[in-house]
Amino acid sequence: MTPIPLNDLGRRTSPFREQLTAAADAVVQSGYFVLGPAVAKFENEFAAYCGAEHCIGVANGTDALEIALKSVGVSPGDQVALCANAAMYGTSAVLASGATPRYVDIESSRSTMDPAELERIANDCGSLRAVIVTHLYGQMADMDKLSACAARHGLAVIEDCAQAHGAIDSRGRRAGSIGDVAAFSFYPTKNLGAIGDGGAVVTRSEQIATLARQYRQYGWTSKYDNRLAGGRNSRLDEIQASFLSIMLPSLDTWNQRRRQIAARYSHEIRNPRIDIHACEGIDYVAHLYVVRSRDRDALKAHLASCGVASDIHYPIPDHRQACHQGRFDHTDLNATERDAATVLTLPCFPELTDDEVSHVIDACNLF
Ligand SMILES: *Cc1c(COP(=O)(O)O)cnc(C)c1O
Repeated sequence: MTPIPLNDLGRRTSPFREQLTAAADAVVQSGYFVLGPAVAKFENEFAAYCGAEHCIGVANGTDALEIALKSVGVSPGDQVALCANAAMYGTSAVLASGATPRYVDIESSRSTMDPAELERIANDCGSLRAVIVTHLYGQMADMDKLSACAARHGLAVIEDCAQAHGAIDSRGRRAGSIGDVAAFSFYPTKNLGAIGDGGAVVTRSEQIATLARQYRQYGWTSKYDNRLAGGRNSRLDEIQASFLSIMLPSLDTWNQRRRQIAARYSHEIRNPRIDIHACEGIDYVAHLYVVRSRDRDALKAHLASCGVASDIHYPIPDHRQACHQGRFDHTDLNATERDAATVLTLPCFPELTDDEVSHVIDACNLF
């Protein structure tokens, strides 16, 4: 069997090739290239899909987080609670907004923020202003408990939905429609990806939407008139928006296929050296299928020898990154650090064939 990659974006786009090419050609001829009618159309479609009133297209997911933070009023001197188990996405946005990260440990059952830990930190930190809740690996966090805690402490809630497009919680709410504001990325590998960079801020609040629209374009209140400090240039272009409109109708089908592959892994991988976290509900859109093993590096090498690609999401927690120059050396996040040492991601993308999935399962069971 040819080697199985972690992802294969050529397989994703090939059925859309003619449509995408025609859409790019239409933009070339239209004379609108940035923040034009195709962006407005996609913003409406994506807001409706998420069950929120407003969508503001921006340049990427990290900008979406930064603009979301500023739009809920986070400013220099504030602290923002977030988890440390991704790849500096939230931290980069918090630092760019002038605020300080306050790291919260994860629930070991699902690798998202532990509500009890948020409560503990909110109780001992007076300048906490907001919390970024990341729906990691496609699994929604415990929004009921986290939102209740945020409400008790007056924290704005920013959902990071860059890995969870289309996930639905037990109360029927889409990821991105629950907190005060949400950030999405359309980086090509995401569940809904462009053919380049893209992102969006999604919110039910008119006021937050207005601010986000201003922050994405220099802080203009109206053209050439700046009353808002901290503006950026972070816009979505017409070609990417057109591509996203073409692919959005496939998102639910893709997520269904991802879940089906994940369910096969959860049921058919049987190896005492590999821990499975069975996630199967519609609150999991299987962005990444992550197993845990104390022999993680050996498992990775074994899979490679079987022609199965794997990767570590993520090896270095944010608070341990060298860029901080030791500033968070005294932060202890036990569950986060345990995950960083044991997690391994298996190939899980909608275009995998059943035979490829079987091969990944066999390779795991032979370890
Ligand atoms: C990809 C990602 C981001 C950042 O998105 P970019 O478009 O790459 O800036 C933010 N948060 C999470 C959880 C992500 O997976």
